[in-house]
Amino acid sequence: MIIMITKVEGFILSTVNYGETSLVIQLFTKEYGIIGLMAKGAKSMKNKLHALTLPYTYGFFYVYLKPNKLSILKDVDLITPFKNIHNDITLISTMTYLSDLTAQVFKESEEQIIYDLFINGLKKIEDGFDPLVITNILEVKYLNFLGVGFVLDSCINCQSKTNIVTIGEGGLICKNCYVNEPIIPLACIKLIRLYEYVDINSIKNINVSDKNKKIIDVFLENYYHQYTGMYLKSKKFLDKIKDSIS
Ligand SMILES: [Zn+2]
Repeated sequence: MIIMITKVEGFILSTVNYGETSLVIQLFTKEYGIIGLMAKGAKSMKNKLHALTLPYTYGFFYVYLKPNKLSILKDVDLITPFKNIHNDITLISTMTYLSDLTAQVFKESEEQIIYDLFINGLKKIEDGFDPLVITNILEVKYLNFLGVGFVLDSCINCQSKTNIVTIGEGGLICKNCYVNEPIIPLACIKLIRLYEYVDINSIKNINVSDKNKKIIDVFLENYYHQYTGMYLKSKKFLDKIKDSIS
């Protein structure tokens, strides 16, 4: 029997033990969505797969693909070890949260572009870009895949493009349509708009004041809470880490 091995770019979302020596891996791939992989023997320290099958490994995976079943992992080539992220507890927590969030968003929408958004975001964090800004950019973009994206060109009610006073459920709100929504400063609305449209790869520098960062982060947290129904333990953990070092 000839076994065809496929080279797959992917990121390990999580692993669970299987039997005494093996692992089952949840791999987010560039081309095939989220797939399950059996890594035989990978729990054993002597196995060559051992160090290459840790959670958050990003690489090329050589896989015997079986549609709708557990595929078999044969080998891994690292693309980057994300060294800077792994050396910083805040960055590790950020990556953990983004992995969880991304997996949820992908499962809701199955849009393959989510993979590129996520990996490009991680690369920017690895390169030293502000992890909170990158996180907020992904959170804004992901809302579109959850069916609760923002209208950011005009008032959601009357389509007016002027006298915008805040952003609320679904998007911008003008002075005439305003009822009692919390006020988000215009500078932050402009940033949220930028986050929505910016190509993460093309970001050279984004300067956001600590104050505006905080306003946007709290706004997005409340928005996710209210409109997506998602609850992620890794988000709570990240918030604790942020509180303990600020
Ligand atoms: Zn209006």
